Parts: sequence; structure tokens; C-alpha cells
Amino acid sequence: MTPVDPWPAEPMQYVGPMRLLVVEDEPKMALMLQRGLKEEGHEVDVCSSGQAALQQGADVPYDCVLLDWGLPDLDGVAVLREWRSRGVMTPVLLLTARGSTGEKVTGLRAGADDYLVKPFHFEELLARLEALARRGAGEKASSIVGDVTLEVRRRVLRRGDVEVSLTGREWALFSELVGQAGDAVSRTRLLLKVWGNDFDGTGNVVDVYVGYLRTKLERLGTKRVSVEAVRGVGYRLAIARSD
Ligand code: CA
Repeated sequence: MTPVDPWPAEPMQYVGPMRLLVVEDEPKMALMLQRGLKEEGHEVDVCSSGQAALQQGADVPYDCVLLDWGLPDLDGVAVLREWRSRGVMTPVLLLTARGSTGEKVTGLRAGADDYLVKPFHFEELLARLEALARRGAGEKASSIVGDVTLEVRRRVLRRGDVEVSLTGREWALFSELVGQAGDAVSRTRLLLKVWGNDFDGTGNVVDVYVGYLRTKLERLGTKRVSVEAVRGVGYRLAIARSD
């Protein structure tokens, strides 16, 4: 039986509930953020140390992370650098008491998507979060993986004159593999990220969709981009060097 693809033909503008991670060591601040964001309908986890955040942010596919700069162990910028070096590309809003231009530049260079100086108004935080979520959901025009161009708005893969369009699920699956470029992504993570609550328990749905993706990559004729099975884990996106 072919799994039904219930996603709409057009990429969604994500404005609904988000899964968020708040990394903040001051209990009052953490509680305020958690309460406020939950009231807005978001799902919120909290980490109070850099080490805990490092693991949590790499394990769980959050829509966005609120990351405090000043943490007791690893500081927020160190956490951010480590995530980015591991290919964790979750949008990050850096929260900090430091407002100097030099520090802002350091934060943004480390891979922060936005930056907010404490104290801030909760409304401003919300507005920035929503902007980040929208950006993450498809306002980036295109990106290049190996010899394949991803046209984000149109959900199309292109190589030279050849184009193939992906369904919503295929796009979400491919994006997740691209986001972890080169690293194996577990079936569990793929199910969670691509199917979430719609997952009905048929365990081979990931394999079926990887099959669809491979067919489309073949149609593009790419010799450099492929989806490889990683035994006992899941899949990884392999990108061969051009020679
Ligand atoms: Ca702090």
C-alpha cells in the first residue's frame, strides 16, 4: 500500500505551535519563558546547563532554541559552535545581557540566527521567534548540496536543466538529511521530525519514502548526492566531492 501524502501542494508557512528548547540557568527567567511560551501554545523544554543543552539540542529536533549566553558550565556561544560543527542547524535566538556590537558579532558568527539583549519585552521575543520559524519553514530561496540545487519555495530539486518536485513528506525527509549533512540520522528522529504525531506505527514508512527520494535523485542524474542506509541506525546523506 502506498502511504498517503496529506501535505498541501504548497510549502506551509509555519505559524502554528512550535517545539522549543529554552536554555537558561536563572530559574526565574526560565520559568517566565516557559510559562509565557506555553501560554502561546508552544511545547517547551528547559535545560539549565550548557552540557545538558548540548545533548538535548542534538537529540531532539526543535523548531527553535532560546539560548542564554551566560551559563554556569559551557557558555551559550560554545554550545552553539558545537551544535553547528555537528551539523545541528536548528534556528537559535541568543539571549544575552551583553549588548556591545563586538559581542553581537561574536554571537552571530558562532551561528546564532538572531540576538536579543536582556531585559527584553516578551512580545518582542515572540515576534522574533515567529520570524525565525517562518524563515526556517521556507523563506530561504535556495541552497546547494553537491551538484543539486534545492529550490525551497517551490520544493523542487534541480540539476542543470532537469527538475523534480518533491511532495511535502519527501521534502521534509530530504531537508532533515541535508540538515545533518553526512551524519547518520536515526529512523526515530526521521519519524519524529517528518511524521510527528501523524505517525501511525508502520515502521517501514521511512524506508518507503527513502525509496521515493532515491528514484527522484536518479531522475536528476546526480552522481554526487545519494541517500545511504546506515546499518542499525537509519540513513545519511552522502555527498561525493567533485573531481
Ligand atoms: Ca544566565
